[in-house]
Formats: sequence, C-alpha cells, structure tokens
Amino acid sequence: MSPRLDLVESLTETYRDLPREVVIKEDLLRTGIAFSRDALAIASGYKPKAYFIFSFDLVPITEMEQQENLHAPEEICLTGGAGNFRRTIVSVRLNPGSPYRVDCSGDGRLILILDGVEVCGVELPAVPEYYKSTLASGKPITDIAPSIEWGYLLYLTVFRICQYFGRKVECQFCDINENYRQQRKSGRSYTGVKTVEEILEALEIIQDTDSISKAYTVTGGSITSQLDGREEIDFYLRYPEAIEERFPGRWLGKVVVQALPRESVQRFKDAGVRIYHPNYEVWDARLFEIICPGKARYIGRDEWIRRILDAAEVFGPSHVIPNFVAGIEMAQPAGFTSVEEALASTGEGLDFFMSRGVAPRFTTWCPEPLSVLGKSNPGGAPLEYHLGLLRVWRDTHERYRLPVPPGYGKPGIGNAVFSVSSFMDVIREAPAVQTAVSPDGNGKPGSANSSAA
Ligand code: SF4
Repeated sequence: MSPRLDLVESLTETYRDLPREVVIKEDLLRTGIAFSRDALAIASGYKPKAYFIFSFDLVPITEMEQQENLHAPEEICLTGGAGNFRRTIVSVRLNPGSPYRVDCSGDGRLILILDGVEVCGVELPAVPEYYKSTLASGKPITDIAPSIEWGYLLYLTVFRICQYFGRKVECQFCDINENYRQQRKSGRSYTGVKTVEEILEALEIIQDTDSISKAYTVTGGSITSQLDGREEIDFYLRYPEAIEERFPGRWLGKVVVQALPRESVQRFKDAGVRIYHPNYEVWDARLFEIICPGKARYIGRDEWIRRILDAAEVFGPSHVIPNFVAGIEMAQPAGFTSVEEALASTGEGLDFFMSRGVAPRFTTWCPEPLSVLGKSNPGGAPLEYHLGLLRVWRDTHERYRLPVPPGYGKPGIGNAVFSVSSFMDVIREAPAVQTAVSPDGNGKPGSANSSAA
C-alpha cells in the first residue's frame, strides 16, 4: 500500500465519528487533483472552473501542460463507486502532480483514483443554461457572475484586486493580485472592476433561466483608500442595493468585506443584505499580525473582533459568519509546529465566537504557489489537523446548540454543497442538540433538514 493510502485509511479509522467521505474531501482540498487526458476531454463538456476569486490551484497556469485551467470543472461530486460514497461536493484545485487523479474506468465511468486504487465514482456539474449567454459587451457570464456550490451560490467578485498590495500588507496566504495578473496574461476575460450595470445584466439572464441559485455573494479585495472615488462601504454597498431593488428577495444576499464600523454594517442591513462575513482569517493574536499585516495595521485585531460582535447586534449573531483559513496557523516559519497547539488555538477562537452565538466557518487552506505562504509551505497543513478541526468545529457548534449556518443550503453528508471545506458535511441530524434555520433563513430554530434559502 502507498504511504498516502495508508495515511488516509488510518485517519479514517481514527476519526470514525466523521463521515469517511470528508477524509478524502479535505485531503483533496489541501493537495489538489490531477486529471487524465481522457477525463479532461470529458470534463470539457461540463461546467468549467471560473476562477471566481483566487486561483485555488497548487500550480501556476504556466505549469499546466494540458491547459487544465481551461478544461477542468469547477467542482466534482464524489459518489458511489468502490467506496460507495454519499454525494460529496468538492471544489477543484488543480495539481497535475497530485496522487489523486480523476480518470476513466474500464467501463467508461469517471472515477477518483488515489495512487492507482479506485476511491469512488465522480460526477461532473452540468453547464447551466445561463453560462451559454454573454453580456451585450461580449463578456462571458463566467467572468461577471459565475456560480459555485453546485449552482447554489452566485459569486460576484466585483473588485478582483486588493489594495493590500505587496508583501508588507497583503495577507500572506492570499494570491488575489497575482491570480488577477496570471488570468489576464492567459487571455481569459477577467474584469478587474465590474460595474453595477454588468452585474444587473448578468442577473437578468440568470433569473430568466435558472432555479438552482439561491444566494449571491458580493465581495472583492479590500479598499484602503478609495476606488472609483468611493470609500470601501460606498463602493461595495451599491451592488446589493441595486440587486435588492431590481430583484427583491430573489436571492439571499451576502457580503464578504472587511470588518467595518457599526454604522456601515447597518447600511448593508438596510440595503437588504442578509448575511455578513467579516473574515478574521486566523485566531492567534501573534499570527494575525504576521499573516494579516494589512488588516493588523489598518484596523487591528482587537478592533476587528469588536466589529464582528457589533455586527452580530445589527444582523443577529447567526447571520454574521466570519471566515478563517483553516491550516494557515501551521504555516512555517511562524506557525504552530504541532497539530495539538494549532487546534487548541483555533478551538479557542471558535469557543469565543460560538459562545456568543456567532458561528465562524472556514475554507480549507490551499497553499497556492503565487502566495507568500503557499510558496514556502507547498504541502499545506497536515490532514490530521483538518480532520481534528472538523471535530472541534462540530462539537463546539453542538455544545452551544447553534442553528445550521444560513446561506449554504442543506447540511449533512450527502446533502451539503459547500465545496471549499467540509463544515457543512459534518453537521449531524441530532434533534436533541441541533436546530436549524427556518425556511426564510432567519436563523431561528426550525427542522434539522430545512434549507437556509
Ligand atoms: S484582505 Fe487579505 S485575503 Fe482579502 S483579498 Fe486582500 S489580501 Fe486577500
């Protein structure tokens, strides 16, 4: 048996309280995935990777000999096959050198292989009808309003650049600016600043043909001075304002921007935004200074945390969902060197927020080579850390009897569509401790199976 198969099997045994599918999902997210030539040819007929904000790849485009950046799918669904997997949606992070490979089986099925052994079957996402349209300007929808999470979420990165620009201020795990450069260089239509009109035009097309999307996210890089003559809040606010005016309540509105003062957060709420994501990235105070130097300098960690709690009073705690990047607290040279220390620190942050009704979520760190930390830590964080974190997150969430986070669709293995980490996959149906959002997504207790949107 290969060392990687050994590792996966032994951790599946150690973490028997987690769905075994998430062991593979987390390993794929931290390692990336390769495609055989035949599998890539098949994938060309499915929904393509849109590069919705970061590269989320383990190699730069210049090292993709099969032009995987143009032909690989946005996500894959692990299902059935040798492992008899329940449906599990995974974001595609490309790595031609990965021990995981999507290939064709002898009987023509797509399968996931680890070091030559079949793990499970693979399904690909169909191309949505709206992906076949372009804007009047000729720009493709995949540039202006791509969707992820198996079509559930429209991802509107309205500013593809971040004003935390350069090593001294940019978040050390982030490749937004480098990715923008490589995408433009590769010839992809990749709009730096999208206009409100472009967003509305794209959404008109989508609403005419689509019933799968239930939410949208407005996001982009931080604005430390001005953009288009506007401060950060004034720049970003225009988008949800216009969307909610044109399509009131059609989608659940979310924004991912910096932790802003209470008055600004209130303006998002008044515009019709339902969920706010002021991402704190890493909990440990020392590492926040090192890993997020721009956020530390311009806002500061204590103020950032204070603003998260202020926002919880504006939106309600269940509707403030700050993200952190799972694993960066183990990035060297400054990070924790043991899984136990990393989990203790990140668990402390989860306890701090969840005890106040705020449930952070996380994305599994993709060590992108175009970022500072990805370049120096190509292996990312250990798989054991990611599985330990899922257990800590789930147990803390259950201990405080918090509702299912709204805005992600249905929870639980076989249902979840959130593709960049497994926090939604590990939510258990346990009526004694679990409550869920009511059908209107207000975060109040409802049935454990109800969807947020
Ligand atoms: S604030 Fe940090 S994580 Fe967000 S886009 Fe800028 S550099 Fe990247």
